[in-house]
Amino acid sequence: MEDRIDRIKKQLHTAGYKLTPQREATVRVLLEHEEDHLSAEDVYLLVKEKSPEIGLATVYRTLELLTELKIVDKINFGDGVSRYDLRKEGAAHFHHHLVCIECGSVAEIQEDLLEEVEEIVERDWKFKIKDHRLTFHGICYRCQQKHAEEQNQKE
Ligand SMILES: [Zn+2]
Ligand SMILES: [Zn+2]
Repeated sequence: MEDRIDRIKKQLHTAGYKLTPQREATVRVLLEHEEDHLSAEDVYLLVKEKSPEIGLATVYRTLELLTELKIVDKINFGDGVSRYDLRKEGAAHFHHHLVCIECGSVAEIQEDLLEEVEEIVERDWKFKIKDHRLTFHGICYRCQQKHAEEQNQKE
């Protein structure tokens, strides 16, 4: 945790920014909830628990700055809410998401898996790929199990 904060601090410095206490509080919440895909309001409420003096606008500006510096990715799962997702360290590409249309759970796939697709796109469309976003919408394993159980009870 402290290592990662140190490295984010360096990334900010390189871009000419300081890791102020407010920014650090925001970064800590993102690190503590790495898998949670928090909205700006979610981040704000969590930051406020530890730093009650912080305002929503400050948290919001910090999130925008972190997005600009590619420390976090902003993502929308189709519910109109922007969520903030820490980019995995050293990841060349944004990870993929599996969104369950029943329970709303979000799982992540870290492997790229798209090398072949990218090759085709770059070759046939003469397009230089820098990144991608891939969200699968479907039914998670737990929801599938639940259906199977309900089915069994009926029979
Ligand atoms: Zn994610
Ligand atoms: Zn589900």
